[in-house]
Amino acid sequence: MDGLLHYGKQNINENDINAVNEVLTSDFLTCGPKVDALEKKLCEYTGAKYATVVSNGTSALHCACIAAGIGPGDEVITTPLTFAASANCVLYCGGKPVFADVDPDTYNISPSSIEKCITNRTKAIIAVDYTGQVVDIGEIKRICDQYNLILIEDAAHSIGSSYKGQKVGSIADITTFSFHPVKTVTGGEGGAVLTNDEEFFKKVQLIRSHGMQHVSEYEEINDDEKGPWYNEMVLLGYNYRMTDFQAALILSQMERIDLFKQRRDDLVNKYNEAFSKIPEIIIQKEIKESDTCRHLYILRIDYSKLKCNRKEFYNEMKKKGILCQIHYIPTYWFPYYKSLGYERGLCPNAEKIYSEIMSIPLYPALTDDQIEYVIKCIQEIILVNR
Ligand SMILES: *Cc1c(COP(=O)(O)O)cnc(C)c1O
Repeated sequence: MDGLLHYGKQNINENDINAVNEVLTSDFLTCGPKVDALEKKLCEYTGAKYATVVSNGTSALHCACIAAGIGPGDEVITTPLTFAASANCVLYCGGKPVFADVDPDTYNISPSSIEKCITNRTKAIIAVDYTGQVVDIGEIKRICDQYNLILIEDAAHSIGSSYKGQKVGSIADITTFSFHPVKTVTGGEGGAVLTNDEEFFKKVQLIRSHGMQHVSEYEEINDDEKGPWYNEMVLLGYNYRMTDFQAALILSQMERIDLFKQRRDDLVNKYNEAFSKIPEIIIQKEIKESDTCRHLYILRIDYSKLKCNRKEFYNEMKKKGILCQIHYIPTYWFPYYKSLGYERGLCPNAEKIYSEIMSIPLYPALTDDQIEYVIKCIQEIILVNR
């Protein structure tokens, strides 16, 4: 390692290593029993009826958009304060991402801003549980019912969180997870698509693997072209499969998800307590309905009260051995989105929040000494810049 404290870090133990090793010497490296077991586990854990594991969180979002029937001419409303994949998946399908602004206190997509974006072309909403806090899903569902929209929850940050006691994964029409190493639970790479709707589920299963299905009834037909080997391609799918060793790693990690949540909660409380005494720091607000399994800790500073700017603050942190990250540059600021005609100024709340935030270390193995050190460094930098 480089000796720096990073904003996030995977947690791998002996059990994880053994779980992967076992698969490597088994009969199935992909599409085997661990994939099935993980899908079952995700259903049990979240309460969702159906789960399909896929190659990563981005392919999960792509599957969700295809299953939702997004195509040319369709508009899909999402947040700009997210990883680009939350909007890119709409572009993959030929649809148009429409950016609604975020709430200035929770940083999650704002229901009133969603309503302002709705047109007769709107087909779906992709709501992102930013930093793990569940969006205002009660209100967003009401909007979806009123305008007949499909709700896709990008829960890349929020595995382990619940809304009014109901686990993320079982609430929206379609929910997607990511198992990238910075996320709460990892498989190296990996993703999942969860739903309670059998039609969405069947479609996602097909999309994951080339749109092919085994057609057993042909085994009995006396036709030389169609026998027990016959697979039929019924739609244009992809290879978005997950390997069995990734599934085994994720399964092993799922054993510790409650421990991960507990430690993340403790760390968030320590940060919040320390920062509540510093007037320049703005603490992210929580809605009471969300029991959050926190993925990122956002240090937000009112730089108008300090002599330094965000970049200088970031560099001071780095000098002290703490490597922060910014989550996120508003998606529509990227050159590619600019080339599509999106302009700065579209979502003022998201742009202001973006200019004031950085993610500071938050992961289960962060020790009490380390978090004390991070807090001390932040206090020091603020003190010399008052
Ligand atoms: C990480 C992430 C994704 C993409 O997941 P990958 O597994 O990296 O493809 C999508 N949306 C959000 C909000 C993410 O944080």
